[in-house]
Amino acid sequence: MNKHYDLIAIGGGSGGLAVAETAAQLGKKVAVVETSKLGGTCVNNGCVPKKVMWYAANLAHAVDDASAFGIPVERGQTDWNTLINSREQYISNINNYWDDYVDDSGMDRINGAARFIDEKTIEVAGTVYSADHIVIATGGQPIVPNVPGAELGITSDGFFQLKQQPKNVAIVGGGYIAVELGGVLRALGSAVSLFALEDRVLEHFDSMISHVLDQEMQAQGIKINTGFHVSGLIKADNGISVMSSDGQHAAGFDAVIWAVGRAANTRSLNLETAGVNMQPNGIVPVDDYQNTNVDGIYAIGDITGKVPLTPVAIAAGRTLAKRLFDENSQADVKVDYDNIPSVVFSHPPIATVGLKECEARAKHEQVHIYKTEFTPMRYALAEHGSTTAMKLVCAGEDQKVVGIHIIGDNADEMLQGFAVAVKMGARKADFDSTIAIHPTSSEELVTMKVADDENLCEVDAGNEWKRAS
Ligand SMILES: Cc1cc2nc3c(=O)[nH]c(=O)nc-3n(C[C@H](O)[C@H](O)[C@H](O)COP(=O)(O)OP(=O)(O)OC[C@H]3O[C@@H](n4cnc5c(N)ncnc54)[C@H](O)[C@@H]3O)c2cc1C
Repeated sequence: MNKHYDLIAIGGGSGGLAVAETAAQLGKKVAVVETSKLGGTCVNNGCVPKKVMWYAANLAHAVDDASAFGIPVERGQTDWNTLINSREQYISNINNYWDDYVDDSGMDRINGAARFIDEKTIEVAGTVYSADHIVIATGGQPIVPNVPGAELGITSDGFFQLKQQPKNVAIVGGGYIAVELGGVLRALGSAVSLFALEDRVLEHFDSMISHVLDQEMQAQGIKINTGFHVSGLIKADNGISVMSSDGQHAAGFDAVIWAVGRAANTRSLNLETAGVNMQPNGIVPVDDYQNTNVDGIYAIGDITGKVPLTPVAIAAGRTLAKRLFDENSQADVKVDYDNIPSVVFSHPPIATVGLKECEARAKHEQVHIYKTEFTPMRYALAEHGSTTAMKLVCAGEDQKVVGIHIIGDNADEMLQGFAVAVKMGARKADFDSTIAIHPTSSEELVTMKVADDENLCEVDAGNEWKRAS
């Protein structure tokens, strides 16, 4: 007879573990199916190893500046083995934590790849399991473009498996993973060239962010090639060459990293058998409550095509389990996808919440923009500076703060509290009446006085709001 559960989570990553854990805490019989290590992308190939590398890069930058403060240290070559081994040990501890936690919480762990047999039944490694509620949380994987020589490149997954530090790296992509990996590798001593199809890095961010990041990356020695459509990779005696569709090429790389987006891991799930709708790109559409089109089958996390971040997947998982099983929870409890703060761990880091300037101008009649740009005190004695830039986007007569955009040291730790203020509907006057903490960079966020209201946004033919150059 099939083993039957109240809930099966397919995928033991951020979302799957969150829904399973909450359901188990509510006394339900739960199983988690996972093909690989528990923790998913974030723990194994994403946020966690990335942030360890980012810390290493920060330390390298600090060492570069230390002598100006009278601290006698000098940079040598990065000891890649020590860094990678320590990082992997840390990750393995997290994997072990989750293994124990799943066992101790009374959940069943099922090893292998799940596929649907019908809307209440899945099969994993030849065994059949059924559940009243099945949650699909299978996440995504990096895309490798279909171009000649693509196999010569690696992805972000491959980056985390590098046994040696590459000397000369090409990163293809202009999104957050591309700029994060580029910043890390450069700080640790690799030569880095970035090839982005778009006409600016981080094109989905407020243009101030792209502009300052571009300057900062170039100042660190990263070569940024925008409008570069990579048409293939070629192996030559001096390394790998990156070719463009208009005949340009750059040669001599010992590693090429594809950072051109991620695709949902949904194609092998046999979703059609269960009648679950899937878009051509593999995204599983859900309503506000994470319901798919099939009763009792839900989707959470990256595969839903909503904000692909770990805390979002976790919130969706926990909220869903509460809605299904918690008698004290409201029947209509759901995740609020508005004003989700996020950080890019570039060098310097970026933090943003709410509307970009041009989005606000498109949506609101009255918009006031407050901006500042400065070199933080951290660099007062250092040979090289690093810019911090901040923008408050305020809308309406009462100047509600509808967007905050920051690039600069410590932006990653600055924004969380300010995001609460935005979520609560704070106005510029509330920022003004908050006493500054001095001397810090974040005090600038509550001391900006004069609005810069020149509208540099325009509607182009494609109906996109752009920053005029
Ligand atoms: C390089 C990188 C850096 C990132 N940095 C950040 C960051 O700093 N902050 C942040 O918030 N987010 C970050 N993310 C995004 C974050 O990792 C994801 O948003 C998050 O992991 C999504 O959770 P999920 O539950 O949807 O999927 P995942 O965490 O990807 O989990 C899906 C799990 O399902 C398993 N699986 C797949 N198919 C099957 C199957 N058929 N049967 C059983 N199991 C299956 C997979 O093995 C995987 O473990 C980063 C991602 C990457 C790639």
